[in-house]
Amino acid sequence: MDSIAANIETIREQIHAACIEAGRDPAGVRLIAVSKTHPASLIKEAFDAGHIVFGESYVQEFLEKCEDPLLAQLGIEWHFIGHLQSNKIRSIIGKVSLIHGIDKLSTAEELSKRALRNNLQVDYLLEVNTSGEASKYGMSPEELLSLAESLFTLPNITLRGLMTIASPDRVLAQQEFRLLRTLLDALKPISPDPSKLTELSMGMSGDFREAIHEGATMIRVGTAIFGWR
Ligand SMILES: *Cc1c(COP(=O)(O)O)cnc(C)c1O
Repeated sequence: MDSIAANIETIREQIHAACIEAGRDPAGVRLIAVSKTHPASLIKEAFDAGHIVFGESYVQEFLEKCEDPLLAQLGIEWHFIGHLQSNKIRSIIGKVSLIHGIDKLSTAEELSKRALRNNLQVDYLLEVNTSGEASKYGMSPEELLSLAESLFTLPNITLRGLMTIASPDRVLAQQEFRLLRTLLDALKPISPDPSKLTELSMGMSGDFREAIHEGATMIRVGTAIFGWR
């Protein structure tokens, strides 16, 4: 495998190329390095190469890493990208800049409650199941639209956008990314502050080019940076 620094550089070039193809400004796409299952030493290596935003999927693993002496003082911007159960919220709140995987009203309510109690403002994304696959987490598009008004009233949390994991097939994936963008556009008129509702977290190692074409503002890339898990 190439060095992590070289992998990140390659991905940056690919992001740039995809943005040019799509007529977009490359500054509008943030790369989240997905470090789940990889050791703190590799995260440190990526950080030393200039990368500061990392995504983790498992609560226990995330907590161990963010407290690891190698990483704790670096000022890493952590994103929680995994499925989040209500009972785990209190252990990560205040430690992550963005939570990508909220997929139930009850989880958002718990997040709001904990944010209020801790006097925090918390940014989050809702996960949408755009492929309709039963094995995937996420709200259905219909659920999202019917719950949106209730979600917008919850105090101390701000919905910043939507997240999805697409089908392995790239043609389907592109359609699913487009659906996510359409859903974000549908939420804007009912949002109390549409200027904050800007994020589309979509695209992984195998499909971030398609996601950028459809408007991704955050791509979550693991394997192409850190190698196989
Ligand atoms: C693991 C994971 C990724 C990264 O996937 P790769 O194919 O390794 O790039 C992205 N998003 C989520 C939610 C993940 O769990």
